[in-house]
Amino acid sequence: MAVYNVPSGVSNILVDIEGTTTPITFVKDVLFPFIKDNIKKYLIEHWKENEFQEDVAQLRKQAEKDSHLHGFVPIPSHVSENDTEKVIQAVVENVQWQMSSDRKTTALKQLQGHMWRSAYATGQIKGEVYKDVVPAVQQWKNLGMKLYIYSSGSVEAQKLLFGYSIEGDLLKLFDGHFDTTVGHKVESESYKNIADRVGCPSENILFLTDVVREAHAAKKAGLHVALVVRPGNEALTDEDKSNFHLVTSFDQIHFPSQQ
Ligand SMILES: [Mg+2]
Repeated sequence: MAVYNVPSGVSNILVDIEGTTTPITFVKDVLFPFIKDNIKKYLIEHWKENEFQEDVAQLRKQAEKDSHLHGFVPIPSHVSENDTEKVIQAVVENVQWQMSSDRKTTALKQLQGHMWRSAYATGQIKGEVYKDVVPAVQQWKNLGMKLYIYSSGSVEAQKLLFGYSIEGDLLKLFDGHFDTTVGHKVESESYKNIADRVGCPSENILFLTDVVREAHAAKKAGLHVALVVRPGNEALTDEDKSNFHLVTSFDQIHFPSQQ
């Protein structure tokens, strides 16, 4: 794997998370199992909090819409204190059912987001970052580059991952965050939107990602792209390899002003 010499003029770097800065398995192996293993404990501990009661109300509303689905778990109303245990058990089973069916309902995402926030803040979870990432990003910052994150995970989830990472709080390294509210990652329009938002011509932006469809979308929008090859990432075809610059580590990315 050779060094990638970034064309001169690039002043902004847009970085994907999963499969790029962070192992692609982080969500599947760390974040999702955390929910499944800790949901009951979390429910019992947070039961009396307003935010949590709102999460339950959302899940109950979703459950009412889901009654036609296979394996559906209803959430009974909470009329008296005697119902607490029954409702908690129903929420546990409902969440586990939704997750095993790989559902992405807003109600589920909201509860997961609150659980992860609490897990990061208490040190039960730390965001994983490949060890070449921080030194390289620091060097790029020293060269005057601006750094942005673009991930399908919400901006809030991105900030948790980098704010509570294995290498401490890394948020100061980034100038901004984008999620799919700016558009989907496989659509070139999204990259044009980002260029507009950061106020920089697209040819002055370098995008780093592991996903070929995202790479094509960004290239079509005029960005420079390098494909990041990490353990466990999806295999690239010979055509992919000939279409893009490949790096296995951020230290292979060199800027003209770098020694
Ligand atoms: Mg990725």
